[in-house]
Amino acid sequence: MKKIVKFFLNLIPRPVLIALSPVISGVFSLLLAGNKVQCYVCEKSFRKFLPYGYGTPRENVLCPNCLSLERHRLIWYYINNYTDFLQSNYKVLHIAPEQCFYKKFKALKNIDYVTADLESPLAEVKMDIQSMPFDDNVFDVVLCNHVLEHIPDDKKAMHEILRVMKPGAWAVLQVPMKSGAATTFEDASITDPKERAIHFGQYDHIRLYGADYGDVLRKEGFIVEELDIPKAIGPELTETYRLAPNEILYIGKKPVHA
Ligand SMILES: [Zn+2]
Repeated sequence: MKKIVKFFLNLIPRPVLIALSPVISGVFSLLLAGNKVQCYVCEKSFRKFLPYGYGTPRENVLCPNCLSLERHRLIWYYINNYTDFLQSNYKVLHIAPEQCFYKKFKALKNIDYVTADLESPLAEVKMDIQSMPFDDNVFDVVLCNHVLEHIPDDKKAMHEILRVMKPGAWAVLQVPMKSGAATTFEDASITDPKERAIHFGQYDHIRLYGADYGDVLRKEGFIVEELDIPKAIGPELTETYRLAPNEILYIGKKPVHA
């Protein structure tokens, strides 16, 4: 069973996985019935989650019902407990929209929801994040998760995100990070997908961020909050929701007075 799961999740590209999700979800939800873990996004409980990840998959991380991963459950926890996103009238830009959030956000009457991406079939606006087709100061919230590690000029993308945000707006800006690395590693000469996987953690990543990520965002003009939500909620809930115990949530705010 484990082998079959790994075969499935490693060989099937994520977009295909998303397309097959209703079938996969039904089968695995039954196989994993139980109460040991709970998805904070869809609120369903299971014996455990599915493994997921390129190379060596991470065990017990992918919700079989909504396909949330650790970072999605972390972000949803933040949205629910730290913000007024579910109540306020916000104009929201969701870059590279995640399947597990898409329907939830679409259904929210209080938000004016814009999805954008270079390729994703879920996105209404096809765009390059390094040059966005939006006016200055239009969005109250921007969600941009696990995108910047793919972008050739990430500083330009950060600058663009900041440009389209209203003063005082906030953005969720998660990226994969190397635990224990003080600085971001980038080497433009590494272009082979196999080499990229070795150095940056995935075949299509072009850098691997380190603990300086918050300072990189600050340098581009964001006011940055680095939230340790697993620490705030304690190890027991962190395990129940299967958050990554070391994942810091990066929130970038646009200064009210530039
Ligand atoms: Zn779920």
